[in-house]
Amino acid sequence: MFFNNTDKRYNRFSDHLREKFGVKVYKITLDAGFTCPNRDGTISSDGCVFCDSGGSFSQLYSNKISVTQQLNEGIELSKQKYKAQKFLAYFQAYTNTYKPVEELKQIYSEALGHADVVGINIGTRPDCVEDEKLDLIGELSENYYTWLEFGLQSIHERSLKFINRGHDFKTFVDATERAKSRNINVCAHVILGLPNETRQDMLETAKALADLNIDGVKIHLLCVLQNTQLSKLYFQGKIPIMEEDEYVETVCDFLELLPPSTTIHRVAGNGLKPNMLAPGWLSKKFIVMNKIDNLLEKRNSYQSLKYK
Ligand code: SF4
Repeated sequence: MFFNNTDKRYNRFSDHLREKFGVKVYKITLDAGFTCPNRDGTISSDGCVFCDSGGSFSQLYSNKISVTQQLNEGIELSKQKYKAQKFLAYFQAYTNTYKPVEELKQIYSEALGHADVVGINIGTRPDCVEDEKLDLIGELSENYYTWLEFGLQSIHERSLKFINRGHDFKTFVDATERAKSRNINVCAHVILGLPNETRQDMLETAKALADLNIDGVKIHLLCVLQNTQLSKLYFQGKIPIMEEDEYVETVCDFLELLPPSTTIHRVAGNGLKPNMLAPGWLSKKFIVMNKIDNLLEKRNSYQSLKYK
């Protein structure tokens, strides 16, 4: 089975966007000056073990310039580099619902006011989406393509404790159901290769997301960045890193369990960052992606093959 009139055996988000909007659509990552309750002392001061000082932000822009200016610069670059024509404003840095609702309205409206922006993706925590905030985002979804991206990482409580998420799986389920009831698309971020998780454990996360009929999944592997809690454990030899072939096999198994409608936002994290300590093999992300395509083909498999 192929998806979005391509030869892809999974429902890749970028292909889905091209099908939906008829042109190439690109996500512009933004830092709108949020912080995070798992870093400011409200839940903890340490943050998630893998999170660096950028709050999971992977791009150049910073909140020193306005959202509009970040969008203008990102859009210009993406038009030239990727020939993209429409854009999603991706609020990525830290917890992007962690302000009063009136301020959120202003911030999201500024992004959606840009002529080339067709929607927003809001990265946040499932314990930071009170009903009034979901009502606001639900209203936006009446006119714009709207996503909430929840960092879940794993359904297993012992793993959530290990990574110091500061919330449980039940909170994610509750937030997802409340968001979906307002027609907001929900994407779950997951991490493969957490210490003490077997492949079966990781696939249980896939099954639970399939049961929720999740709209999107972003698959990362456990990466060790400099100056994180995880790096200290890594240097003590306590963090085994998944091998490339094992990761590729697990991603294919994971995809087979998801519904065909679930869009796949990533299959291999962000690629190599300058401050990444491990794994080295992720430096050639496109090779990993090709290996996933090749293994699905070799298995004569595809996303949803084992979805019940
Ligand atoms: S919730 Fe996000 S921003 Fe906050 S500590 Fe965890 S990864 Fe970092």
